[in-house]
Amino acid sequence: SAPIHVIGGGLAGSEAAWQLAERGHPVVLHEMRPRRGTDAHQTDGLAELVCSNSFRSDDANGNAVGLLHQEMRSLGSLIMRAGDAHQVPAGGALAVDRDDFSQSVTRALAAHPNVTLAREEVDGLPPAAWERVIVATGPLTSPALAAAIGALTGTQSLAFFDAIAPIVHRDSIDLGKAWFQSRYDKAGPGGTGADYINCPLDREQYDAFIQALIDGEKASFKEWEATTPYFDGCLPIEVMAERGPETLRHGPMKPVGLTNPHDPTVKACAIVQLRQDNALGTLYNMVGFQTKLRHAEQVRIFRTIPGLENAEFARLGGLHRNTYLDSPRLLDATLRLKAEPRLRFAGQITGCEGYVESAAIGLMAGRFAAAEAEGRTLPPLPQTTALGALIAHITGGHIAAEDQGAPRSFQPMNVNFGLFPPLAQAPRNETGRRLRGPEKAVLKKRAITDRARADLAGWIDAT
Ligand code: FAD
Repeated sequence: SAPIHVIGGGLAGSEAAWQLAERGHPVVLHEMRPRRGTDAHQTDGLAELVCSNSFRSDDANGNAVGLLHQEMRSLGSLIMRAGDAHQVPAGGALAVDRDDFSQSVTRALAAHPNVTLAREEVDGLPPAAWERVIVATGPLTSPALAAAIGALTGTQSLAFFDAIAPIVHRDSIDLGKAWFQSRYDKAGPGGTGADYINCPLDREQYDAFIQALIDGEKASFKEWEATTPYFDGCLPIEVMAERGPETLRHGPMKPVGLTNPHDPTVKACAIVQLRQDNALGTLYNMVGFQTKLRHAEQVRIFRTIPGLENAEFARLGGLHRNTYLDSPRLLDATLRLKAEPRLRFAGQITGCEGYVESAAIGLMAGRFAAAEAEGRTLPPLPQTTALGALIAHITGGHIAAEDQGAPRSFQPMNVNFGLFPPLAQAPRNETGRRLRGPEKAVLKKRAITDRARADLAGWIDAT
């Protein structure tokens, strides 16, 4: 049978190609690297993680992305298999060694008998002879293809800014001032409860740091950039500092749940956390420290942080533009472009946000395309599942909201419990007593995730 073409060997495209290949379909996976690079990728590996090395929480009972991990594992996800195989300690989160992870995805696909890897850019609309195509070219889609998609959809693509956090060599961190500890000593998969490096700032140091961020020289903005909004989940630290002097110490620099063993009596005003970035434990990334400060300014200002006076940076922070489709208007329920249904979209270009979410949409795009090629229609994925909630966000929830008179705005979104339909019944404990506060929140998440597991199992049985 004719091969299915997947364009882009990132998180979504790799997963989509794997799902198709595992169902017996020949796939051509087109990846432009290393022939043509992007502003963020640094290797020629498939599924390269361009910034953080974290897949976020792995708690399938209390966190929506942890539930999504679990659902993807139950559907044979290659991205989750490789992530699990190459995890590094990170408290309650699933973090991975980025090189080992990417190499294992690359090897698995290269070795699959149904996959042909074509190292080439698709620099315009795919040829008409390609009957079925999955476009998974991500937030940094090459300009030629982006222009062709823009012309085809006839709409202005939306855009926002994303930013990268710096990475520091561990042996350049002064552990006479910094210390290892996870917040509240929480130990996650493979963790010890002491997975993060913490750097404390007193009030005077913190105030000076905030001022330095505000005064620091930023990378210059092109004219079109001035009108592009920031994505709230990924604000540069200097933008947070400008929102108010206390913003950072209530955000990425919050000092709670951590005690300085060098001086346990003194409470830090703010703490910078660094998370292990590779399996060797030689690199640590500054958690939540995305920035558009000029590189020399980053080095100067970050070296004022106690413990980082002599920090050597493996990579400095940066900022880029991120393009995505107005999917609720443009895509149908199985992620096909309504205007040209042979084209299906997956990954961040559809308006999901995050590595795991991008791979999850790739997984579903692969399954939808496989079923279509087999002349079958998959039953709709229940919206009560994490996968279903994400697909609903991308393909239509917002149109419905608009019909009800709500203002229209489609924003890229991480998976979260706000995307799930509410529970039919408020959770109660064994005594039937009505619950309040934290106990209620825990049971509510448990009830939502239990419902998701049951509904996904039903869907799998029906497919
Ligand atoms: P990608 O993983 O980017 O894959 C797209 C692939 O398509 C690339 O390999 C690219 O080379 C290829 N390609 C592009 N155009 C063409 C073409 N015309 N022909 C052939 N190949 C092409 N998410 C997080 O969860 N955590 C983070 O810390 C994080 N940081 C980010 C930082 C940056 C700088 C960016 C850009 C995004 C970040 N994201 C982050 C968001 C998102 O999760 C990732 O971008 C994710 O990789 C998206 O997956 P994807 O498969 O859609 O795209």
